[in-house]
Amino acid sequence: MKEEVKNKIYEAVESLKDELVKTVSDLVQIKSVTPEFGYEPEKTFGGERKVSEYLKSLMDKEGIATDIFEAEGFAGRASLVGVYKGTGEGKSLMFNGHIDVVPPGDIEQWNGEDPFSGRIDDEYVHGRGSVDMKGGNAAALFALKALLKAGYKPKGDIVFQNAVGEECKVTEAGTGACLEHGPLADAAIVCEPTSTDAIPFEINTAQPGVFEMKWSVKGKSCHAARRGEVIRDGGLGEEAGVDAIEKGMIIYNAVKDLERKWGQTKKHKLYKQGYFCINCATIDAGVGRSLVSDNIEMSYSLFYPPQETPESIKNEIEAHIKNACLNDDWLVKNPPKVEWIFNWPSFDIAQEEEICKLAQKAVRTVVPAGGELTGMFAVSDASFIAEKNIPVIILGPGEGKYAHVAGEKIAISQLVEAAKIYALIIAQWCGIE
Ligand SMILES: [Zn+2]
Repeated sequence: MKEEVKNKIYEAVESLKDELVKTVSDLVQIKSVTPEFGYEPEKTFGGERKVSEYLKSLMDKEGIATDIFEAEGFAGRASLVGVYKGTGEGKSLMFNGHIDVVPPGDIEQWNGEDPFSGRIDDEYVHGRGSVDMKGGNAAALFALKALLKAGYKPKGDIVFQNAVGEECKVTEAGTGACLEHGPLADAAIVCEPTSTDAIPFEINTAQPGVFEMKWSVKGKSCHAARRGEVIRDGGLGEEAGVDAIEKGMIIYNAVKDLERKWGQTKKHKLYKQGYFCINCATIDAGVGRSLVSDNIEMSYSLFYPPQETPESIKNEIEAHIKNACLNDDWLVKNPPKVEWIFNWPSFDIAQEEEICKLAQKAVRTVVPAGGELTGMFAVSDASFIAEKNIPVIILGPGEGKYAHVAGEKIAISQLVEAAKIYALIIAQWCGIE
Protein backbone atom coordinates (compact mmCIF):
# COMPACT_ATOMS: atom_id res chain seq x y z
CA MET A 1 0.00 0.00 0.00
CA LYS A 2 1.24 3.45 -0.86
CA GLU A 3 2.37 5.60 2.08
CA GLU A 4 0.08 8.37 0.89
CA VAL A 5 -3.02 6.16 0.98
CA LYS A 6 -2.08 4.81 4.40
CA ASN A 7 -1.52 8.30 5.75
CA LYS A 8 -4.86 9.54 4.43
CA ILE A 9 -6.61 6.59 6.10
CA TYR A 10 -4.80 7.23 9.40
CA GLU A 11 -5.66 10.89 9.25
CA ALA A 12 -9.34 10.14 8.65
CA VAL A 13 -9.45 7.68 11.57
CA GLU A 14 -7.74 10.21 13.86
CA SER A 15 -10.22 12.90 12.85
CA LEU A 16 -13.09 10.57 13.84
CA LYS A 17 -11.56 9.59 17.19
CA ASP A 18 -13.90 11.65 19.42
CA GLU A 19 -16.94 10.44 17.53
CA LEU A 20 -15.78 6.83 17.79
CA VAL A 21 -15.22 7.16 21.54
CA LYS A 22 -18.61 8.79 22.04
CA THR A 23 -20.28 6.01 20.04
CA VAL A 24 -18.76 3.34 22.29
CA SER A 25 -19.83 5.31 25.36
CA ASP A 26 -23.39 5.69 24.01
CA LEU A 27 -23.58 1.98 23.21
CA VAL A 28 -22.42 1.01 26.71
CA GLN A 29 -25.22 3.12 28.17
CA ILE A 30 -27.80 0.99 26.37
CA LYS A 31 -28.34 -1.96 28.73
CA SER A 32 -28.44 -4.79 26.22
CA VAL A 33 -28.09 -7.65 28.68
CA THR A 34 -28.89 -11.02 27.13
CA PRO A 35 -32.44 -11.75 28.36
CA GLU A 36 -31.60 -15.38 29.25
CA PHE A 37 -29.71 -14.06 32.29
CA GLY A 38 -32.98 -12.73 33.72
CA TYR A 39 -31.17 -9.55 34.86
CA GLU A 40 -33.64 -6.67 35.52
CA PRO A 41 -35.82 -7.69 32.55
CA GLU A 42 -38.05 -4.61 32.84
CA LYS A 43 -34.99 -2.36 32.32
CA THR A 44 -32.91 -4.41 29.93
CA PHE A 45 -35.30 -6.34 27.66
CA GLY A 46 -35.32 -4.59 24.30
CA GLY A 47 -31.79 -3.28 24.87
CA GLU A 48 -30.49 -5.45 22.04
CA ARG A 49 -32.98 -3.86 19.64
CA LYS A 50 -31.97 -0.38 20.83
CA VAL A 51 -28.32 -1.13 20.04
CA SER A 52 -29.34 -2.33 16.58
CA GLU A 53 -31.33 0.85 16.03
CA TYR A 54 -28.48 3.06 17.24
CA LEU A 55 -25.99 1.36 14.90
CA LYS A 56 -28.52 1.49 12.06
CA SER A 57 -28.76 5.26 12.41
CA LEU A 58 -24.97 5.50 12.00
CA MET A 59 -25.00 3.13 9.03
CA ASP A 60 -27.78 5.08 7.32
CA LYS A 61 -25.50 8.13 7.22
CA GLU A 62 -22.82 6.17 5.38
CA GLY A 63 -25.15 4.78 2.74
CA ILE A 64 -25.06 1.28 4.21
CA ALA A 65 -28.23 -0.71 3.41
CA THR A 66 -29.57 -2.05 6.72
CA ASP A 67 -32.03 -4.62 7.89
CA ILE A 68 -33.12 -4.99 11.50
CA PHE A 69 -34.80 -8.31 11.98
CA GLU A 70 -35.97 -10.75 14.64
CA ALA A 71 -35.40 -14.47 14.27
CA GLU A 72 -38.49 -16.62 14.56
CA GLY A 73 -39.31 -17.31 18.19
CA PHE A 74 -37.24 -14.37 19.49
CA ALA A 75 -39.68 -11.48 19.48
CA GLY A 76 -38.24 -8.19 20.72
CA ARG A 77 -34.65 -9.26 20.08
CA ALA A 78 -33.42 -7.67 16.89
CA SER A 79 -30.11 -8.24 15.15
CA LEU A 80 -28.83 -5.88 12.49
CA VAL A 81 -27.32 -6.70 9.12
CA GLY A 82 -25.73 -3.86 7.15
CA VAL A 83 -24.36 -4.10 3.64
CA TYR A 84 -22.19 -1.49 1.99
CA LYS A 85 -22.23 -2.18 -1.72
CA GLY A 86 -18.77 -2.06 -3.22
CA THR A 87 -18.10 -0.51 -6.59
CA GLY A 88 -17.80 -3.89 -8.26
CA GLU A 89 -15.01 -6.31 -8.74
CA GLY A 90 -13.51 -6.66 -5.23
CA LYS A 91 -13.81 -9.47 -2.70
CA SER A 92 -16.37 -9.04 0.06
CA LEU A 93 -15.60 -8.88 3.78
CA MET A 94 -17.80 -9.43 6.80
CA PHE A 95 -17.46 -7.89 10.27
CA ASN A 96 -19.30 -9.82 12.95
CA GLY A 97 -19.94 -8.75 16.52
CA HIS A 98 -22.47 -9.44 19.22
CA ILE A 99 -24.44 -6.57 20.70
CA ASP A 100 -25.60 -8.28 23.89
CA VAL A 101 -23.65 -8.12 27.15
CA VAL A 102 -23.44 -10.11 30.39
CA PRO A 103 -25.00 -8.68 33.58
CA PRO A 104 -22.81 -6.43 35.76
CA GLY A 105 -22.44 -9.08 38.49
CA ASP A 106 -21.71 -8.00 42.08
CA ILE A 107 -22.31 -4.23 42.11
CA GLU A 108 -20.06 -3.81 45.18
CA GLN A 109 -17.06 -4.76 43.07
CA TRP A 110 -17.63 -1.80 40.73
CA ASN A 111 -16.43 0.54 43.53
CA GLY A 112 -19.26 3.01 43.17
CA GLU A 113 -19.09 3.18 39.38
CA ASP A 114 -22.35 2.74 37.48
CA PRO A 115 -21.69 -0.41 35.37
CA PHE A 116 -23.46 1.19 32.42
CA SER A 117 -21.94 4.67 32.81
CA GLY A 118 -19.99 4.68 29.57
CA ARG A 119 -17.62 7.07 31.38
CA ILE A 120 -14.77 8.39 29.30
CA ASP A 121 -11.42 9.33 30.83
CA ASP A 122 -8.05 10.10 29.26
CA GLU A 123 -7.32 6.47 28.49
CA TYR A 124 -10.45 4.35 28.62
CA VAL A 125 -14.15 4.03 27.98
CA HIS A 126 -15.66 2.31 31.02
CA GLY A 127 -18.60 0.01 31.54
CA ARG A 128 -20.21 -3.31 30.80
CA GLY A 129 -19.93 -4.16 27.13
CA SER A 130 -17.15 -1.66 26.39
CA VAL A 131 -14.56 -4.33 25.61
CA ASP A 132 -16.98 -7.22 25.06
CA MET A 133 -17.73 -6.03 22.53
CA LYS A 134 -19.33 -2.76 21.61
CA GLY A 135 -15.87 -1.27 21.07
CA GLY A 136 -15.17 -3.83 18.35
CA ASN A 137 -18.50 -3.22 16.63
CA ALA A 138 -17.94 0.53 16.62
CA ALA A 139 -14.34 0.25 15.39
CA ALA A 140 -15.43 -1.85 12.39
CA LEU A 141 -18.06 0.66 11.39
CA PHE A 142 -15.67 3.58 11.86
CA ALA A 143 -13.08 1.85 9.67
CA LEU A 144 -15.45 2.09 6.73
CA LYS A 145 -16.52 5.59 7.76
CA ALA A 146 -12.89 6.69 7.75
CA LEU A 147 -12.18 5.17 4.35
CA LEU A 148 -15.14 7.00 2.87
CA LYS A 149 -14.11 10.21 4.60
CA ALA A 150 -10.63 9.84 3.13
CA GLY A 151 -12.25 9.69 -0.30
CA TYR A 152 -11.91 5.95 -0.98
CA LYS A 153 -14.63 3.51 -1.92
CA PRO A 154 -14.27 -0.25 -1.34
CA LYS A 155 -14.54 -2.36 -4.48
CA GLY A 156 -15.96 -5.39 -2.65
CA ASP A 157 -19.04 -5.40 -0.42
CA ILE A 158 -18.72 -4.89 3.33
CA VAL A 159 -21.17 -6.84 5.45
CA PHE A 160 -21.83 -5.95 9.09
CA GLN A 161 -23.48 -8.50 11.35
CA ASN A 162 -24.48 -7.14 14.74
CA ALA A 163 -26.00 -10.11 16.47
CA VAL A 164 -27.98 -10.73 19.67
CA GLY A 165 -27.73 -13.62 22.07
CA GLU A 166 -24.05 -14.56 21.95
CA GLU A 167 -23.46 -14.45 25.70
CA CYS A 168 -26.05 -17.18 26.28
CA LYS A 169 -25.16 -19.23 23.22
CA VAL A 170 -28.46 -18.43 21.52
CA THR A 171 -26.90 -18.42 18.09
CA GLU A 172 -30.19 -19.24 16.39
CA ALA A 173 -31.38 -15.79 17.50
CA GLY A 174 -28.16 -14.00 16.60
CA THR A 175 -25.22 -14.87 14.38
CA GLY A 176 -26.86 -18.09 13.17
CA ALA A 177 -29.91 -16.08 12.13
CA CYS A 178 -27.74 -13.38 10.48
CA LEU A 179 -25.95 -16.08 8.48
CA GLU A 180 -29.28 -17.56 7.36
CA HIS A 181 -30.53 -14.07 6.56
CA GLY A 182 -27.44 -13.26 4.49
CA PRO A 183 -25.60 -12.06 2.65
CA LEU A 184 -22.40 -13.99 3.31
CA ALA A 185 -18.89 -12.85 2.32
CA ASP A 186 -15.54 -14.08 1.03
CA ALA A 187 -13.91 -13.70 4.46
CA ALA A 188 -14.93 -12.61 7.94
CA ILE A 189 -13.54 -10.92 11.03
CA VAL A 190 -15.14 -11.40 14.44
CA CYS A 191 -14.36 -8.20 16.33
CA GLU A 192 -14.01 -9.66 19.85
CA PRO A 193 -11.11 -8.31 21.94
CA THR A 194 -7.87 -10.20 21.23
CA SER A 195 -5.15 -8.31 23.07
CA THR A 196 -3.41 -10.06 25.96
CA ASP A 197 -0.87 -8.85 28.53
CA ALA A 198 1.90 -10.19 26.31
CA ILE A 199 0.72 -9.28 22.82
CA PRO A 200 -1.50 -6.53 21.44
CA PHE A 201 -3.97 -7.51 18.74
CA GLU A 202 -3.43 -11.25 18.54
CA ILE A 203 -5.22 -12.85 15.62
CA ASN A 204 -7.12 -15.99 16.60
CA THR A 205 -7.27 -18.59 13.84
CA ALA A 206 -8.69 -21.43 15.93
CA GLN A 207 -11.09 -22.04 18.74
CA PRO A 208 -11.76 -25.11 20.90
CA GLY A 209 -15.03 -27.01 20.77
CA VAL A 210 -17.11 -26.82 23.92
CA PHE A 211 -19.47 -29.64 24.79
CA GLU A 212 -21.84 -29.41 27.72
CA MET A 213 -22.83 -32.71 29.27
CA LYS A 214 -24.40 -34.16 32.36
CA TRP A 215 -24.80 -37.61 33.84
CA SER A 216 -27.04 -38.85 36.59
CA VAL A 217 -27.13 -41.98 38.73
CA LYS A 218 -29.99 -43.34 40.76
CA GLY A 219 -29.52 -45.02 44.14
CA LYS A 220 -32.13 -46.35 46.51
CA SER A 221 -33.07 -44.21 49.46
CA CYS A 222 -33.65 -45.32 53.03
CA HIS A 223 -33.47 -43.85 56.54
CA ALA A 224 -30.04 -42.43 57.28
CA ALA A 225 -29.98 -44.55 60.45
CA ARG A 226 -29.96 -47.68 58.29
CA ARG A 227 -26.78 -46.67 56.51
CA GLY A 228 -24.88 -49.42 58.36
CA GLU A 229 -27.04 -52.01 56.61
CA VAL A 230 -26.28 -50.32 53.30
CA ILE A 231 -22.50 -50.11 53.55
CA ARG A 232 -21.14 -52.74 56.02
CA ASP A 233 -20.05 -56.23 55.17
CA GLY A 234 -22.74 -58.68 56.21
CA GLY A 235 -25.43 -55.98 56.07
CA LEU A 236 -28.53 -56.07 53.92
CA GLY A 237 -26.79 -54.10 51.17
CA GLU A 238 -28.91 -53.23 48.15
CA GLU A 239 -32.00 -54.65 49.80
CA ALA A 240 -31.85 -51.85 52.37
CA GLY A 241 -30.60 -49.01 50.18
CA VAL A 242 -27.95 -47.74 47.77
CA ASP A 243 -26.00 -44.53 48.30
CA ALA A 244 -26.15 -42.65 44.99
CA ILE A 245 -23.41 -40.21 46.05
CA GLU A 246 -20.96 -43.07 46.55
CA LYS A 247 -21.87 -44.57 43.18
CA GLY A 248 -21.58 -41.17 41.54
CA MET A 249 -18.06 -40.75 42.91
CA ILE A 250 -16.97 -43.81 40.94
CA ILE A 251 -17.94 -41.97 37.78
CA TYR A 252 -16.65 -38.59 38.98
CA ASN A 253 -13.22 -40.08 39.69
CA ALA A 254 -13.14 -41.96 36.40
CA VAL A 255 -13.90 -38.79 34.45
CA LYS A 256 -11.27 -36.94 36.44
CA ASP A 257 -8.74 -39.64 35.52
CA LEU A 258 -9.66 -39.16 31.90
CA GLU A 259 -9.18 -35.41 32.25
CA ARG A 260 -5.71 -36.08 33.65
CA LYS A 261 -5.00 -38.24 30.61
CA TRP A 262 -6.27 -35.46 28.31
CA GLY A 263 -3.49 -33.30 29.72
CA GLN A 264 -1.08 -35.57 27.84
CA THR A 265 -3.11 -36.76 24.88
CA LYS A 266 -5.19 -33.82 23.67
CA LYS A 267 -2.99 -31.42 21.75
CA HIS A 268 -3.08 -28.58 19.29
CA LYS A 269 -0.19 -26.41 18.17
CA LEU A 270 -1.90 -23.15 19.17
CA TYR A 271 -2.75 -24.31 22.68
CA LYS A 272 -0.59 -24.85 25.72
CA GLN A 273 -0.21 -28.50 26.68
CA GLY A 274 -2.89 -29.25 29.28
CA TYR A 275 -5.33 -26.61 28.07
CA PHE A 276 -8.04 -29.08 27.04
CA CYS A 277 -10.14 -30.11 30.01
CA ILE A 278 -13.28 -31.70 31.40
CA ASN A 279 -14.63 -29.17 33.85
CA CYS A 280 -17.05 -30.57 36.44
CA ALA A 281 -19.20 -27.48 36.90
CA THR A 282 -22.18 -28.46 39.09
CA ILE A 283 -23.14 -31.24 41.49
CA ASP A 284 -26.65 -31.90 42.61
CA ALA A 285 -27.40 -34.77 44.95
CA GLY A 286 -29.53 -36.10 47.77
CA VAL A 287 -32.89 -35.30 49.29
CA GLY A 288 -32.15 -34.35 52.90
CA ARG A 289 -29.86 -35.14 55.79
CA SER A 290 -32.11 -37.85 57.24
CA LEU A 291 -31.96 -40.00 54.12
CA VAL A 292 -29.38 -42.01 52.26
CA SER A 293 -29.14 -40.22 48.94
CA ASP A 294 -30.96 -41.80 46.02
CA ASN A 295 -29.80 -39.46 43.28
CA ILE A 296 -26.79 -37.57 42.02
CA GLU A 297 -26.23 -35.50 38.93
CA MET A 298 -23.08 -33.74 37.73
CA SER A 299 -22.77 -31.37 34.81
CA TYR A 300 -19.66 -30.56 32.82
CA SER A 301 -18.20 -28.31 30.18
CA LEU A 302 -15.59 -30.02 28.04
CA PHE A 303 -13.05 -27.99 26.07
CA TYR A 304 -11.77 -30.22 23.28
CA PRO A 305 -9.24 -29.73 20.47
CA PRO A 306 -10.47 -28.06 17.28
CA GLN A 307 -9.44 -31.00 15.09
CA GLU A 308 -11.72 -33.47 16.90
CA THR A 309 -15.40 -33.98 16.16
CA PRO A 310 -18.13 -33.75 18.77
CA GLU A 311 -19.07 -37.36 17.91
CA SER A 312 -15.58 -38.65 18.72
CA ILE A 313 -15.58 -36.78 22.05
CA LYS A 314 -19.03 -38.09 22.89
CA ASN A 315 -18.00 -41.67 22.10
CA GLU A 316 -14.81 -41.34 24.12
CA ILE A 317 -16.59 -40.06 27.23
CA GLU A 318 -19.45 -42.53 27.03
CA ALA A 319 -17.11 -45.50 26.57
CA HIS A 320 -15.00 -44.32 29.49
CA ILE A 321 -18.00 -43.95 31.80
CA LYS A 322 -19.33 -47.34 30.73
CA ASN A 323 -15.98 -48.94 31.51
CA ALA A 324 -15.84 -47.29 34.90
CA CYS A 325 -19.16 -48.91 35.82
CA LEU A 326 -18.13 -52.48 34.96
CA ASN A 327 -16.74 -53.28 38.42
CA ASP A 328 -19.86 -52.22 40.26
CA ASP A 329 -22.89 -54.52 40.27
CA TRP A 330 -25.35 -51.73 40.96
CA LEU A 331 -24.01 -49.51 38.16
CA VAL A 332 -24.01 -52.43 35.73
CA LYS A 333 -27.69 -53.00 36.49
CA ASN A 334 -28.49 -49.29 36.76
CA PRO A 335 -26.20 -47.53 34.32
CA PRO A 336 -25.84 -43.76 34.51
CA LYS A 337 -27.90 -41.64 32.19
CA VAL A 338 -25.60 -39.46 30.10
CA GLU A 339 -27.06 -36.42 28.36
CA TRP A 340 -25.34 -34.19 25.84
CA ILE A 341 -26.79 -30.74 26.26
CA PHE A 342 -25.08 -28.43 23.83
CA ASN A 343 -22.08 -28.35 21.54
CA TRP A 344 -20.39 -25.13 20.53
CA PRO A 345 -18.46 -26.13 17.40
CA SER A 346 -14.75 -25.48 17.09
CA PHE A 347 -12.96 -23.88 14.17
CA ASP A 348 -9.42 -23.99 12.91
CA ILE A 349 -8.47 -22.25 9.68
CA ALA A 350 -5.22 -22.71 7.80
CA GLN A 351 -2.82 -19.93 8.69
CA GLU A 352 -1.82 -19.80 5.03
CA GLU A 353 -5.27 -18.38 4.21
CA GLU A 354 -4.91 -14.99 2.60
CA ILE A 355 -7.08 -13.26 5.20
CA CYS A 356 -4.70 -14.41 7.99
CA LYS A 357 -1.61 -13.13 6.24
CA LEU A 358 -3.24 -9.90 5.19
CA ALA A 359 -4.65 -9.22 8.68
CA GLN A 360 -1.25 -9.93 10.22
CA LYS A 361 0.39 -7.46 7.87
CA ALA A 362 -2.24 -4.82 8.68
CA VAL A 363 -1.84 -5.29 12.44
CA ARG A 364 1.95 -5.05 12.19
CA THR A 365 1.70 -1.92 10.08
CA VAL A 366 -0.33 -0.21 12.82
CA VAL A 367 0.99 -2.00 15.92
CA PRO A 368 4.39 -3.59 15.16
CA ALA A 369 4.43 -5.71 18.35
CA GLY A 370 1.09 -7.34 17.55
CA GLY A 371 -0.43 -9.77 15.12
CA GLU A 372 0.68 -13.14 16.44
CA LEU A 373 -1.54 -15.96 15.13
CA THR A 374 -2.97 -17.78 18.16
CA GLY A 375 -5.90 -19.87 19.38
CA MET A 376 -8.77 -18.20 21.16
CA PHE A 377 -8.85 -19.05 24.87
CA ALA A 378 -12.67 -19.21 24.96
CA VAL A 379 -15.32 -19.34 22.25
CA SER A 380 -17.03 -16.90 19.89
CA ASP A 381 -19.48 -16.85 17.02
CA ALA A 382 -16.59 -17.42 14.60
CA SER A 383 -17.39 -21.17 14.63
CA PHE A 384 -20.77 -20.61 13.05
CA ILE A 385 -19.23 -18.47 10.32
CA ALA A 386 -16.58 -21.15 9.69
CA GLU A 387 -19.38 -23.73 9.33
CA LYS A 388 -20.47 -21.75 6.25
CA ASN A 389 -17.00 -22.34 4.77
CA ILE A 390 -16.02 -18.70 5.16
CA PRO A 391 -12.39 -18.13 6.21
CA VAL A 392 -12.75 -16.34 9.54
CA ILE A 393 -10.43 -14.82 12.12
CA ILE A 394 -11.04 -13.19 15.47
CA LEU A 395 -9.36 -9.80 15.80
CA GLY A 396 -10.52 -6.82 17.80
CA PRO A 397 -9.74 -3.98 20.17
CA GLY A 398 -9.32 -4.36 23.91
CA GLU A 399 -7.95 -6.89 26.32
CA GLY A 400 -9.92 -10.08 26.89
CA LYS A 401 -9.08 -9.95 30.61
CA TYR A 402 -11.47 -7.01 31.06
CA ALA A 403 -14.43 -8.96 29.66
CA HIS A 404 -17.09 -10.20 32.10
CA VAL A 405 -15.41 -8.53 35.10
CA ALA A 406 -16.35 -5.60 37.34
CA GLY A 407 -14.62 -2.48 36.07
CA GLU A 408 -14.81 -3.53 32.41
CA LYS A 409 -13.10 -1.00 30.14
CA ILE A 410 -11.50 -0.55 26.76
CA ALA A 411 -8.44 1.52 25.87
CA ILE A 412 -9.19 4.43 23.55
CA SER A 413 -5.82 3.93 21.87
CA GLN A 414 -6.88 0.40 20.92
CA LEU A 415 -10.18 1.61 19.47
CA VAL A 416 -8.30 3.95 17.17
CA GLU A 417 -5.74 1.30 16.27
CA ALA A 418 -8.47 -1.24 15.53
CA ALA A 419 -10.25 1.18 13.19
CA LYS A 420 -6.95 1.74 11.36
CA ILE A 421 -6.24 -2.00 11.16
CA TYR A 422 -9.73 -2.80 9.86
CA ALA A 423 -9.51 0.03 7.31
CA LEU A 424 -6.19 -1.32 6.01
CA ILE A 425 -7.68 -4.82 5.79
CA ILE A 426 -10.68 -3.51 3.83
CA ALA A 427 -8.40 -1.56 1.52
CA GLN A 428 -6.30 -4.62 0.78
CA TRP A 429 -8.88 -7.40 0.84
CA CYS A 430 -11.71 -5.63 -0.94
CA GLY A 431 -9.62 -3.13 -2.88
CA ILE A 432 -10.37 0.59 -2.92
CA GLU A 433 -10.67 3.23 -5.57
ZN1 LIG B 1 -17.94 -11.34 23.47
